[in-house]
Amino acid sequence: MINFKTLAQEVKDDIVRWRHDFHADPELSFHEVNTSRKIAEALRKIGYTNVRVGIPHCPETGVVADLNPGKPGRCIVLRADMDALPIQEETSLPYTSQNHGVAHACGHDSHMAMLLGAAKILFPLRSQINGNIRFIFQPGEEYLLSDMCPSLSDACSKPGARILVEEDDVMDGVDAVFGIHVWGTLPSGVIHYVPGPFMTTNLIVNMEVTGVGGHGAMPHTCIDPVVAACQIISAWQTIISREIDPQEAAVLTVGSINVDSKTYNVIPERVSVIAGARTYDETVREYIKQRMQEIAEGVAKGMRVKISFTASSGVPPVRNDEVFTMQAVQSITEAIGAEHVACTKPVAASEDFSWYQKIVPGALMFLGVGNEEKHTNFAQHHPQFNSDDEALPNGTASLAAVAYGFINQSVDIG
Ligand SMILES: [Zn+2]
Ligand SMILES: [Zn+2]
Repeated sequence: MINFKTLAQEVKDDIVRWRHDFHADPELSFHEVNTSRKIAEALRKIGYTNVRVGIPHCPETGVVADLNPGKPGRCIVLRADMDALPIQEETSLPYTSQNHGVAHACGHDSHMAMLLGAAKILFPLRSQINGNIRFIFQPGEEYLLSDMCPSLSDACSKPGARILVEEDDVMDGVDAVFGIHVWGTLPSGVIHYVPGPFMTTNLIVNMEVTGVGGHGAMPHTCIDPVVAACQIISAWQTIISREIDPQEAAVLTVGSINVDSKTYNVIPERVSVIAGARTYDETVREYIKQRMQEIAEGVAKGMRVKISFTASSGVPPVRNDEVFTMQAVQSITEAIGAEHVACTKPVAASEDFSWYQKIVPGALMFLGVGNEEKHTNFAQHHPQFNSDDEALPNGTASLAAVAYGFINQSVDIG
């Protein structure tokens, strides 16, 4: 039996070096150009000859390589995302971000490094693998739109995984997909899995409430959009508390309220509101969207304001195929030991990995990278987020073991 844990430990120095290099040079969604170049170089150095750079709309970002191109048998995709966030890093690490206002605060630097590690340990084993393993380094997971991040004037209109699924041939002939996301609040080195619904689908709502502005001491000559917006926001909370089945988890948050007045004695002309909702079911998401609009329109009519309401549905929910997940858990347990594998609870975050799961069975799992002594236990998207390097070989071993197990065992899946 192949000892993936030992093989991963043997490439640990490479994994750590790659990660630190990615971490120091983080790039925003669909702008992962240096990152793509480094990944392609590393893959070619390992021996991969069919390395493809670029995805539809983005010719310089995203990297795909096959272990056994065209070989008959099953094909599994191992996927890592690549993008960083528009956050100013607040660590004093020797490899802290050199790019002002951009940071690998979601741990995608670790994903790329772990997947390169898997590509490295699987390459010498390729003749023993009775099918193909496709490595996808995917840009644009954070799906930053240009209106969220003005520096991204040419960002794509949909997340990277959706582009690959809908506009690329990279999923042709693929039988399963597997990926790992590092997680700062889970113990370092432990793979956490959830069969079935795992991560949420989301909804982004932009609303503008327009009244009639004027003097704060003469409200009768105005139509106050602030009071109307507050009424709408309060009423929205009853969608979750009064209208959704308590067995269906859902959350609604208003994250931004802005007025065009900066003082106390002015009734502003308009208020803009940005809200989000998350749930594990797309029909629940659509219900929330419809009710938010109906409530906003109803309250607006009663309070004499006008509203504009736009809602965009985000990624689908991550739903792990139960049979494939348990098969993967078995491979991981054999590779890194049962003490490093744990079942966990779903989380109300979202991941565009779900787009791959729309067309093939798949599993996304968490690798804990939290270690309080090393200050690597911050939550994702925190300005001090960092991964514990010691955890990463377990991620590499798990990626390799799942792919090897899926190709070389003929267990039926979803
Ligand atoms: Zn993230
Ligand atoms: Zn992420």
